[in-house]
Amino acid sequence: MLLFQEDTPQQPKKTKLGHTELEYSNASSILTEGKGFMDGYDYTLNPYSGCSFGCNYCYAAFFATTKEKMDNWGYWVRIKENALQLLMKFRKKPLKDKTIYLSSVTDPYQPIERELELTRSILKELISYHEVRLVIQTRSPIVTRDIDLFKQFKAIQVNMSVTTDSEEVRKAFEPLCPSNKIRIKAITEIQQEGINSCITMTPLLPVVDADEFAKTLIETGVKKFIIQPFHPDKGKFVASTREDATKLIRELDWTTAKYEDTLKIIQSYIPEIGIGKQGFAPI
Ligand code: SF4
Repeated sequence: MLLFQEDTPQQPKKTKLGHTELEYSNASSILTEGKGFMDGYDYTLNPYSGCSFGCNYCYAAFFATTKEKMDNWGYWVRIKENALQLLMKFRKKPLKDKTIYLSSVTDPYQPIERELELTRSILKELISYHEVRLVIQTRSPIVTRDIDLFKQFKAIQVNMSVTTDSEEVRKAFEPLCPSNKIRIKAITEIQQEGINSCITMTPLLPVVDADEFAKTLIETGVKKFIIQPFHPDKGKFVASTREDATKLIRELDWTTAKYEDTLKIIQSYIPEIGIGKQGFAPI
């Protein structure tokens, strides 16, 4: 192809989608053993590294391989071109009843997924050859595209992150992400299609009207909710919370007391809400 005429076979293809620089390369593995916050899962699976959504509090930025990449979090994505081939190696070592979390350090339904269908190809593989238990985690409405595949899993849960009721707050912390309204609409659709769904407020960002927020959450029809504070514990998550986000939280005066007051109001509507890591118990 003329565009890549000067490329050597070793050079990764590079292109752009919107604000995002795309890099295509091979990964050495595709399933990572669940550890730390993810230790309730057998594996995490990340078809991409980097994330176009670029939430300014995202701890995954700390796994970037260079400081430049960490600083430019949200503006680059690496596509693991051989993700499906790597997964196919597990045909010989069945993943029956294993629980997989997709994804822990990227969004499997970020914009490039619409044309690449890499996550979709992975789901097809998981359906066809292995009886796995799957948890999908996203902020993207593209997830509704794969409802046909979700219906074929014996055990699946689709988690949609909804972190605030305020578009101003959302834009401050998640300027590159889909709006709250779009996310609520997407998870409502998934729920209505009979797929086990969950809304994750992880972390819960400043909320303007906790009563109305709780009512909106309930109206989705979703029955499972998980919440955790901006600083979920005094461990590594604090160290991993990025400076800009921490500064914003202080400026907005989103204190632990305010989080707890908001939690109490939400709990008065949703008593069974899961809190922190406990809420992330595998399906
Ligand atoms: S969508 Fe998830 S992985 Fe992507 S930047 Fe936001 S928190 Fe990080």
